[in-house]
Amino acid sequence: MTLTAITGGRIFDGRDWHDGRSLIVADGRVTAISAGIPAGARQVDADGALVVPGFIDLQVNGGGGVMFNDHPTPEGIARIARAHARFGTTKLLPTLITDNRAVTAEARKAGREAAARNTAGFLGIHLEGPHLSVSRKGAHDPALIRPMEAADLEALLAYRREVGLLLTTIATENVSIDQARALAEGGVTVSLGHTDTTCVEALDYFAAGVRMATHLFNAMSPLGHREPGLVGAAIHGGSAFAGLIADGFHVDPVSMGVALRAKQGPGRIFIVTDAMSTIGTDDAGLMLNGRRIFREGGRLTLADGTLAGADIDMLSSVLFVHRRLGLPIEEAIRMASLYPAEAMGVGDRHGRLLPGYAADILLLEPSLSIRSVFIDGAELE
Ligand SMILES: [Zn+2]
Repeated sequence: MTLTAITGGRIFDGRDWHDGRSLIVADGRVTAISAGIPAGARQVDADGALVVPGFIDLQVNGGGGVMFNDHPTPEGIARIARAHARFGTTKLLPTLITDNRAVTAEARKAGREAAARNTAGFLGIHLEGPHLSVSRKGAHDPALIRPMEAADLEALLAYRREVGLLLTTIATENVSIDQARALAEGGVTVSLGHTDTTCVEALDYFAAGVRMATHLFNAMSPLGHREPGLVGAAIHGGSAFAGLIADGFHVDPVSMGVALRAKQGPGRIFIVTDAMSTIGTDDAGLMLNGRRIFREGGRLTLADGTLAGADIDMLSSVLFVHRRLGLPIEEAIRMASLYPAEAMGVGDRHGRLLPGYAADILLLEPSLSIRSVFIDGAELE
């Protein structure tokens, strides 16, 4: 058994701060926040650092020069996870953008392998499409968007049954409410996105077990005065969670603030990066389904200017929410740890620093830069 005591820091458990205590970790899990240090424990001196839960990113298309679409393999997943860990992400869902049947099957296989290997940082997979709406396609290839068939439904249910956590983004236009209900009842986390659904229809899907909306405001029916759209439904629906890209380009900070102030629980708005392969690299752009994406000034766009994923990491997103929107650092951290864990139904073992929780830990300098990262209790080199 490896026993570690992180001492001399200010511990934030996701709700409360603990001063003059040590965070005790054994075998990849938090075991205690304690006044003493157990005999035989390896000591890590946090030296005044903030000791906070690691970030959980439910929408990561790539990183470290790799796109999950191009490398739907366990090695691809490991490389993406490593690239994001430097920015505080200790668990993520590699996210497949709409692709053909063969690549989609490979992505599921890669998830199965990554789970079997206990790949550091891997939480599950996110299939964003292909059952979306062409009218809200964003950067998804419209030629690959299609209705959900019985075999698609069964493949998703089988993955959830046999492998583990699975998030899928769907549009009401191409997935029936009965299909959505069957997925939810089978334990798949279902999110509405890339859709022109009405508010009434979206609320019906939420009542049928859909838990989430994908990148709130982007590629969805907007909040209008007579038709509140998916934006209205996601903010109004108490149980609904919603991801938000906090780079200041995808959503105006005013709209972000309005949504955050309006949202009542238990569902919450949480941060996703929607990051592409550029994170952790100097790459000038990338290719997606054979189309070039350009990187400039913190944005990624297709040739026609359509935003194509984001060029931001998790720590920068947390700092944007804290510094630009003025949310307390505690809430900004929760938006990147506890709330995404709750959205995936694993808020009882991920996203906080309490006994029994995964030892996914960040040591932050008082200036909020990252000093060190622990995934399942193991410190990143
Ligand atoms: Zn999207």
